Amino acid sequence: MSKCKVQLAIVGHPPPDFDARELASWNSNVFEISSVIESFQLNEDAAGDDWEFSDVQFENAVRRDPTCDFLVMFVTVKLECNWYLRRLSDNRIVFTFYEMDHIVRHHRLPLKNLSLRVLYAAVLVFRRYGSRIPVASESTNYAHDETRGCLFDMNANKMDVVASLHRPCVCERCCSQLKEAKVSNELIESVKKEIRKVQKPLADRIIDFVRAHTIFSIFVSVLSALVLGITASLIAAWVYEFMKATLSSFLQA
Ligand SMILES: [Zn+2]
Repeated sequence: MSKCKVQLAIVGHPPPDFDARELASWNSNVFEISSVIESFQLNEDAAGDDWEFSDVQFENAVRRDPTCDFLVMFVTVKLECNWYLRRLSDNRIVFTFYEMDHIVRHHRLPLKNLSLRVLYAAVLVFRRYGSRIPVASESTNYAHDETRGCLFDMNANKMDVVASLHRPCVCERCCSQLKEAKVSNELIESVKKEIRKVQKPLADRIIDFVRAHTIFSIFVSVLSALVLGITASLIAAWVYEFMKATLSSFLQA
């Protein structure tokens, strides 16, 4: 199973809490990020009547490195139809943090989780369509309207994206469709295994655990306090006896 080589590019001003280098250091058996992550200035204003940028405006923004399988451009401006991802020509996609960053931060999730979700979904789409990303005008059916915490949730309501930013999955229907499209079992299993590592920060997971197991957490806290108290008393008693013996020996000498 060969890895997809992915080119990343930042177009315009990135969110302050987004670091594309974090994606490059993500350990994956299904994709590798090109070591060169370039940034580009966004030269134009929005062409749309509602301040949205059209696909055409991004068609000439960044060229794909021919040694990479596909290119992901990260932007912060509004895209056509207010979608958060648009497919362009020549195996390129543009993803925007517009509105998405507020939703993700509101749920105390890192933007990295959102970016990884996009990358894993793009890898599966690339393989599903015979090593190419279909352009926006091409009819596709890889996304589903129901929110299942799956990489291919449509998220017509953008708020629903949070369901697939903590231990996302590839649902049974999507797995079945991917297999029918000749995506290997090994790739699907690797993706499913790796996306389980896309999680909330540890502190939030601890809070969730305490909320779900309140009595057990209180019991463990009380037990820990008792054990610490007893241990401290034993150490203090030992130190006292040691000091007493040392002082006694010193005075006798
Ligand atoms: Zn699905």
